[in-house]
Amino acid sequence: MSDELKILLELQHLDYMIKDWRNASTRKEFRKIGFQLETDNPVEMLLEKRKKLAERINKPLFQMYERILSRYKDWAVVPVIDGFCGGCFSKVPTELSGQRKVLNNCPNCGRFIYWD
Ligand SMILES: [Zn+2]
Repeated sequence: MSDELKILLELQHLDYMIKDWRNASTRKEFRKIGFQLETDNPVEMLLEKRKKLAERINKPLFQMYERILSRYKDWAVVPVIDGFCGGCFSKVPTELSGQRKVLNNCPNCGRFIYWD
């Protein structure tokens, strides 16, 4: 797995955490099950971490990630499952699986794809 892919996956993870923490009912649920928050604003903390992560990849790549994310509102980076894109479930051309060391996009939906 390339460093760029690792960072994109970490970004995606953070984006899900941010989405969760922005949701008032998630915050309420957390408090209800007894979690004490050490910070009043975890979103701010996560956004700061996100900014630092984004600086570690090149700008066009980050912009592409943002574009994919805003287009689909779910996943920008997905695994290839049994030869199918985990985002749109179309068949990924077999020649792409031979290029696992480089960052690839699904030819159908454009999401970043990776093999386990
Ligand atoms: Zn796809």
